Amino acid sequence: MNHPNIKVPPPGPKAKELVERDHNVISSSYGRWYPLVVERAEDCIIWDVDGNSYIDFNSGLVVMNVGHNHPRIVKAVKEQVEKLIHYSNTDFYYREAIELAEELTKITPGNFPKKVFFGNSGAEAVEAAIKAIKWHTRRPRIIGYIGAFHGRTMGALSITASKPIYRDHFFPMMPGVTHVPFPYCYRCPFKMEYPSCGLYCVDFIEEQVLNKYIPPDEVGAFFFEPIQGEGGYVVPPPKYFQKLKKLADKYDIKIVSDEVQAGMGRAGKWFAIEHWSVEPDVISSAKGIASGFPLGAMISRAELQEWDKGAHASTFGGNPVSARVALEVIRIIREEKLLDNATKVGEHIMKRLNEFKDDYAVVGDVRGKGLMIGMELVKNKETKEPAKEIAHDVMIDSWKNGVAVITAGISTIRIAPPLTITSELADKALDIIENSIKKVMKEREVK
Ligand code: PLP
Repeated sequence: MNHPNIKVPPPGPKAKELVERDHNVISSSYGRWYPLVVERAEDCIIWDVDGNSYIDFNSGLVVMNVGHNHPRIVKAVKEQVEKLIHYSNTDFYYREAIELAEELTKITPGNFPKKVFFGNSGAEAVEAAIKAIKWHTRRPRIIGYIGAFHGRTMGALSITASKPIYRDHFFPMMPGVTHVPFPYCYRCPFKMEYPSCGLYCVDFIEEQVLNKYIPPDEVGAFFFEPIQGEGGYVVPPPKYFQKLKKLADKYDIKIVSDEVQAGMGRAGKWFAIEHWSVEPDVISSAKGIASGFPLGAMISRAELQEWDKGAHASTFGGNPVSARVALEVIRIIREEKLLDNATKVGEHIMKRLNEFKDDYAVVGDVRGKGLMIGMELVKNKETKEPAKEIAHDVMIDSWKNGVAVITAGISTIRIAPPLTITSELADKALDIIENSIKKVMKEREVK
């Protein structure tokens, strides 16, 4: 069948009815981008309840890296649920969690002994990282980044700094977090240019933060996303993390790479930090790790997880079904060479988006690694004023025409299809997005 296939202008009648019921009973704190009610999915295609099919540029929010309902995942789930569904990993042992931990210690960067903690989500992986850092270093402070998203539980939220709404009415949070500017070169917080800046943003941390008001020996770790996700798909420049790591080493500060969104092959490597050839002390992973089953993992240098019994644990964390699925995800990524595919198709998409940048006044910046790609829309390429409404309209029009896509940051179209996507299917989606850009520019009379 030919996809996308829009039979009924979305939202159709069934979608409308379900959305109304949803609003009566489900928390209004959920973001919801548009009234898409998904009924089934296969690889890179999703169907709504009215029978429309769409190309999925969201991967169910950067989760379905091996594609929706991969037959090997479905088979693994069936086999596992017939064998063992749960037997608290906090209290006893089972093979699936052990085998998965062994694999995770192999695919994460760094040829040193590692250990793994399992939770159920990205935020829990970040919470585990905070606790491991505090327990081990006995240092009470953390340095995080402006624009970062690490989750919404109170510890993770204390480091999150991508939108005020996430923090509104929740103050005070965990004390001891200091935020520094992220290397967002298109909008450099220091109004400098790479590479002539000499990566001043790292010097700033030492000169203005560690030397002036945050005693370095109180800082346990730098927490960062190697590529900011929620914050706008922002890719730091070459050598950034190498320089940060040197600074961290100087003061014996650990580095924590939050790879919940950028990891598990998304950026064309197992973990995005590999693009900078830096070996973090801790990695947090979730989202793509178990193809939609709840799982978060905190993988660290082994000594960081030599702590007292009971210091941290989770009843469901690393349950056998999620763990078995995650093992299958790793095998699929390996056997189907999805890191290579993400790199190849990602380069193809970047090439086309850069053509959009040449052709359309609203496309200000294109950036990404693998299949984690952002196209930032602006009102004016000189002033770089973010085109929030235009990005919104492009997102909605693309959806109505068969591409499920959302934004990140203020006005960045985020492109994160399953790693299985072909260039041909990506092109179809990009044609639709391009038409939406043209249409919205015309409607809003942008020249
Ligand atoms: N860390 C990063 C980088 C994320 O992108 C997210 C979610 O988007 C989280 C943590 C939180 O993950 P979860 O929603 O599974 O708690």
